[in-house]
Amino acid sequence: MNLFKHSLTINKPQNMIKITNYIREDIEKSGIKDGIIVVFCPHTTAGITINENADPDVVHDLIYGFEKTYPTHDQNYRHFEGNSHAHMKSSTMGASQTLILQEGKIIFGTWQDVYFCEFDGPRNRTFYVKIMEG
Ligand code: ZN
Repeated sequence: MNLFKHSLTINKPQNMIKITNYIREDIEKSGIKDGIIVVFCPHTTAGITINENADPDVVHDLIYGFEKTYPTHDQNYRHFEGNSHAHMKSSTMGASQTLILQEGKIIFGTWQDVYFCEFDGPRNRTFYVKIMEG
């Protein structure tokens, strides 16, 4: 099957968690050396993205920038759950990312990692990793 499910506990209202090491473990378990990897988030107020891994201030600034664009509180929001900002951030980030696996390694730029993006925490979350040979 080469489908892997992971759980995360996120302690902050908004955060970005590096998940690349989970994916690397899944690659190891699958035994697949070359193919395509899909990382999927089944939540409507979270997302998956690829971004810089070197300077933690990039994560801070991404969350800051999203907050400026989609403020947590806005009296004109209608959605009864009160988390419209998180739905907008989720759709902007997207629910999945596709990676290329070559000779057992993910093709990345020097500074890239995969992040799970939480916008409506704290919560327990899941994400899926599907690895297809080819
Ligand atoms: Zn909602």
